[in-house]
Amino acid sequence: MKRWLVFTDLDGTLLDEDYDWIAARPAVEALRAASIPIILNSSKTLAEMAVIRNEMQLDGYCIAENGSVIHTAEMNANLEEYDTSIRDKLVTLAGELKKAHGYRFVGFSDWQFTDVMKFTGLSKVEAKLSMRRQATEPIIWEDTQKRLNEFVNQLHKAGVKLVRGGQFMHLMLVNMSKGMAMQKVLNRYKQCMPEFGWGTVALGDSPNDWSMLEQADVGILIPRIDHEVNHKRFPRVRRASFPSACGWNEAILSWLSEIKEEVECE
Ligand SMILES: [Mg+2]
Repeated sequence: MKRWLVFTDLDGTLLDEDYDWIAARPAVEALRAASIPIILNSSKTLAEMAVIRNEMQLDGYCIAENGSVIHTAEMNANLEEYDTSIRDKLVTLAGELKKAHGYRFVGFSDWQFTDVMKFTGLSKVEAKLSMRRQATEPIIWEDTQKRLNEFVNQLHKAGVKLVRGGQFMHLMLVNMSKGMAMQKVLNRYKQCMPEFGWGTVALGDSPNDWSMLEQADVGILIPRIDHEVNHKRFPRVRRASFPSACGWNEAILSWLSEIKEEVECE
């Protein structure tokens, strides 16, 4: 028998511009009824994602910071014990390059929570949670494209990459991605329950999602409000009909209707 896992980005995908997922509730409930786990896979921090996981009553795996942090409900949820050593190294490296070459960019480490609120539209509580970063550093580039290319090359030599998300570019280790984290979680399901065949669905709207969309059995591109992504670059990926939570809802319900013979509804 086949079992499915649904991996999803949050901002612009499951969440609308008000950071709300309510328009996707019918599909979320349909997945729950079909015992299909939803695994959030976002550039957000674990601290931020704890709120929405609680709201959505998700108690399994959760992937934070663009694939850099994988969390399970069994792990210690004490936020005070989060390891920030990777993020600290990223901030130090970026700061050294900025000082040596005079690059113009700003990032979370430069900001107070009021700055984060201004740039993101997050509430005070949400902004503070978004600053509890462990393994990535979001930045806004304010220099030329040519100098961005130089910066990226210098980062790469130090094992660091810059990934474009919805609003920010994210400094992170080269060997991490949303797609690689999806594979790790899939492998754990396979190890725990080898008696099943496992399939994956992935939903996302931005370049940091492409790795999981391309690796999933069913990749679903959620169209963006601000600009259209060239869909032709993903021959196997289907496109939702609407942006964010509405598109998520429609695409998941449509996919569920295709596989309803396979899943046992409770
Ligand atoms: Mg997104």
